[in-house]
Amino acid sequence: MTQNCSIPPILLTNTACFFDVDGTLAKIKMRPEWVMIPKDIKQALCTLSVITNGALALISGRPIVELDNLSAPLCGPVAGIHGAERRDAQGKLHYVILPMNIKTVLRQELKKSVSVFSGCHMEDKGEAFALHYRQGKNYHKQMLAIAEEQVKRYPELALQLGKYVVELKPASVNKGVAISNFMQETPFIGRIPLFIGDDLTDEAGFKEINRLQGITIKVGPGNTVARYHLNDVEHVHKWILSIAKQHKKHFIKTKHSVLEVV
Ligand SMILES: [Mg+2]
Repeated sequence: MTQNCSIPPILLTNTACFFDVDGTLAKIKMRPEWVMIPKDIKQALCTLSVITNGALALISGRPIVELDNLSAPLCGPVAGIHGAERRDAQGKLHYVILPMNIKTVLRQELKKSVSVFSGCHMEDKGEAFALHYRQGKNYHKQMLAIAEEQVKRYPELALQLGKYVVELKPASVNKGVAISNFMQETPFIGRIPLFIGDDLTDEAGFKEINRLQGITIKVGPGNTVARYHLNDVEHVHKWILSIAKQHKKHFIKTKHSVLEVV
């Protein structure tokens, strides 16, 4: 479904922008804590946020607290843990919470099961549990089997596969639902949505944006329902800088105020 032709021109004043983070705004590193978004890209995102009147949100598998640290000084609407946590444009927080008894069992059992495999570790995100195997790349099947066992046991859970990660998250949560929630609220409502992502977790977001007749952009290789394509994080950066530059000029000219744009 992906087209090789270039992304259509967009008018930011009529667009709602949604961005995945790891593998989209930031290069993937061997350890998640080494990941960073370059300063000029964070500044450009702030510019885009001002020009879209705040209709810009990060949509990620990371918790909101990590996303705020990664993207500062940007601190607007955001969905973390694939949408289990969401901060709307008014700053109100919305949570989907797993039952405490399930979380207690998962914490204990997943940690024990995963620790047997060299290079693998369990990340406790509070409302989701990620089994990472980036440093133990041969253990995909084993991580999947551990996670599938818990999904069979608890219907409240769903599997989310990603790049060298198998995740257990609340069944009602995905990036499509998070985007749908934003699109029903001010300042997103009525705008043309755009979403850029690189991984399997972004496909639910692409489906929702395609349904809303928006613009979907897949970063890197892999099957996708997204309609446009960028090769890698560097191409995403170039595209963001170019639209920020184009719109900044126009915005300053029309608003007669440089101070409104970062
Ligand atoms: Mg990603």
